[in-house]
Amino acid sequence: MSADCLFCRIAGGGIPAAKLHDDALCIAVADIAPKAPVHLLVLPKVHLSGAPEITGNNEALIGHLVKVAADLARERGLERDGYRIVINSGVHGGQTVQHLHVHLLGGRPLADMG
Ligand code: 5GP
Ligand code: ZN
Repeated sequence: MSADCLFCRIAGGGIPAAKLHDDALCIAVADIAPKAPVHLLVLPKVHLSGAPEITGNNEALIGHLVKVAADLARERGLERDGYRIVINSGVHGGQTVQHLHVHLLGGRPLADMG
């Protein structure tokens, strides 16, 4: 938990947010600037700055985040047409919040990788 980290404050309850999922390891919220009809973020409660901090010590947590994203996609009926699960990393990856998060995007074609 980092007091000056936006997603730590959201995951820790310091900033009120409608939680679409909440368990011991993570929460899910709607993205504030959705890029698709469904655009959710899965945030670990522990602070990890991004994908470079994924190691053998937290691979179960990372797997859980992806599993929660897939569960949310299933709940929202996205399995038939498909969806995208994304982790952006660093400048070239377009990461803007330095707290690891998994995007779930769906509800429209997402064919380009741009
Ligand atoms: P990134 O670009 O780091 O992969 O993704 C950060 C995402 O967080 C962006 O899609 C952005 O719209 C979203 N975001 C930024 N600030 C907030 C916020 O205060 N609340 C929520 N729910 N999403 C946010
Ligand atoms: Zn954080």
